[in-house]
Amino acid sequence: MNTPAIEGGSPIRKQFLVFGKPKITKKEIEEVLDTIRSGWLGTGPKTKKFEEKFRQYIGSKHAIALNSCTAGLHLALDVLGIKDGDEVITTPLTFSSTANVIAHHHAKPIFADIFKGTWNIDPQEIEKKITKRTKAIISVDLHGRPCDYDAILKLTKKHKLFLVEDAAHAAEAMYKDKKVGTFADFTAFSFYVTKNIMTGEGGMLTTNDDTWANEARIRSLHGISKDAWKRYSAEGFSPYETLYPGYKYNMMDLVASFGLHQLSNVEKNLKVRQKYWHMYNEAFKDISELTLPAPEEQHTRHGRHLYAILLQTEKLKIDRNRFLDAMKTEGIGTGIHFTALHLHKFFREAYGYKKGDFPNAEYVGDRTLSLPLSPSMTSQDVQDVIAAVLKLVKYYRKS
Ligand SMILES: *Cc1c(COP(=O)(O)O)cnc(C)c1O
Repeated sequence: MNTPAIEGGSPIRKQFLVFGKPKITKKEIEEVLDTIRSGWLGTGPKTKKFEEKFRQYIGSKHAIALNSCTAGLHLALDVLGIKDGDEVITTPLTFSSTANVIAHHHAKPIFADIFKGTWNIDPQEIEKKITKRTKAIISVDLHGRPCDYDAILKLTKKHKLFLVEDAAHAAEAMYKDKKVGTFADFTAFSFYVTKNIMTGEGGMLTTNDDTWANEARIRSLHGISKDAWKRYSAEGFSPYETLYPGYKYNMMDLVASFGLHQLSNVEKNLKVRQKYWHMYNEAFKDISELTLPAPEEQHTRHGRHLYAILLQTEKLKIDRNRFLDAMKTEGIGTGIHFTALHLHKFFREAYGYKKGDFPNAEYVGDRTLSLPLSPSMTSQDVQDVIAAVLKLVKYYRKS
């Protein structure tokens, strides 16, 4: 029996495989240097160019570049007028920021459980949670898989709710031939280092509504009148006015420099991740201790941001966290996306959520493990990940 490194055996890899390592090409590096040399590092022409290029890629009417996806979600709720006493429904299987932004507006995050198969929010569970106070739904396209939008949009129409889409994982995704970012009231994207398009920190907000787009843009830069970023440019100073106590959410040209070339490679990088995805599927398909990601629905496109497996911990001698440590000791970084958010301290204490409230999210949250899936990896890296997973499953299986 091949002994795991964590039990004193030798590791699969000597050089650690970093989880979510971005692929950065010469073009990004040259563009960043060009921006530094230009002397204009802040919001400016490159940010505008990136916005336009992203807008065209998505096919939305507007795209507003921001310094994070969280800023986008926060702004969307702000522009939609979410306030004290309102309720906003979202999934418990998401990153903290999806629900934090609801709390920022003094509204209550109402969780609705997920499907056990796709791990996305279940529209029937959403409907059970709708009250007179419900104002919006924040859907999350988990790991890059679009939610069931036929059902969700039926609910938003019937109950007159806003739909804000957290597409942090899903810039490439399509639902029934419609691009993610074109059908919700607002859609927020993330360009954090590990995401499919990365600028270090960064985000984008898309909408098809002219008034909302204008409001979001103004509020993203202190709430001062339009094109305030030009106030130090060659066009000369023009007086501006504060229209609203806005936020400091603008993107800089320095980071937009990455985005321009990351976006040029977005489809190419997706193909690489698709290939690795199928290598994992093939390697693990007969392993009964693992549950693999569900296949896609027809006419939808998965953004392939995260390849997560569920460890059937009932059949293993160790739990998920120990498995993660064992992978690390084999020289492979993995991630957890996510543990059920309603069980985190803040949500338990502020809103009274407890264990047992959302059994499907808890089931997945206790077992999920994301394997590295970056276009910066080689096929050999993928083979190493597969070898490590199989080694650990074989060693720790109960029967
Ligand atoms: C990464 C992530 C965010 C936050 O993105 P930032 O750009 O870091 O603010 C929001 N939601 C989900 C689901 C994420 O994975």
